[in-house]
Amino acid sequence: MICNAPEKKIARTQSRPALARERARIARELLADCRLCAHDCGVNRLAGETGLCHATAEARFFLAQTEVSDELELIPTFAVALSGCDMRCDFCITGKESWNPRAGLGFSAAEIAERAKAALADGAKTIMLLGGEPTIHLPAALEFVSHLPADAKLVWKTNAHGSAQARELLDGIFDVWLADFKFGNNACAQRLAKTPDYVRVVRDNLLWANGHSELIVRHLLLPGHVECCWRPVAAWLAENLPDVKVNLRSGFWPAWQASRHAELRHTVSVLETQRAGDIADEFGLPLIP
Ligand code: SF4
Repeated sequence: MICNAPEKKIARTQSRPALARERARIARELLADCRLCAHDCGVNRLAGETGLCHATAEARFFLAQTEVSDELELIPTFAVALSGCDMRCDFCITGKESWNPRAGLGFSAAEIAERAKAALADGAKTIMLLGGEPTIHLPAALEFVSHLPADAKLVWKTNAHGSAQARELLDGIFDVWLADFKFGNNACAQRLAKTPDYVRVVRDNLLWANGHSELIVRHLLLPGHVECCWRPVAAWLAENLPDVKVNLRSGFWPAWQASRHAELRHTVSVLETQRAGDIADEFGLPLIP
């Protein structure tokens, strides 16, 4: 089934730049007891303490450029990738930067916003914040938005492992959530990404995102994980978010530390890709072409 879901419009009582500025201030204060993601560390990042993501209070970035490899409806997009992540996916395609919040350059929200505005003037359709994981740098992300035009189409590309507190701060800010649902069970999430209680957290975030913005869910097919991961993800999406756009990606590459896991030492086979497509059909999922 091809997805034709209509765009959702976000209602706000104040302009987005003003709202983002106010939220950025609140988010920065909350770093004193950081619970921005579901790891719920409770460390004081303003005082130099670090939690599981190892991020300090200062954001850095490793990419800020126009990209054309994302979903067709979003590209060209001016993509800004903040360094550091709260998950530890051994197969991360940008593992070196994504795992290291000290990678790249110091992030100046105002300067990068100027580059984003220039990209929009040159024809970029959207501006996308990603990582690593942008949630761990929510103050910087919100400050960035405060410098952007109110009518720009903004995309929040996330691992969907943020906390309820982070969601509250993001309410009304991004037009599109482009969210991963990587694992269909907690055992695979723990083994491959050192992330406990994964399935519940992601489901909560997806349900919330669908009620507050446009939502596109991505699932990267992993070799050997069609039945244990893709099938339960597909079944849950079909039952709980039947109209949501789903991007099933079969371009897995054994990057970073994937070779730690025997089944991740090669790409996804043609048979597995076909099997995954059959599962999508079985559940009537609206796949993005
Ligand atoms: S962002 Fe998440 S992992 Fe990082 S310190 Fe805060 S709660 Fe911990």
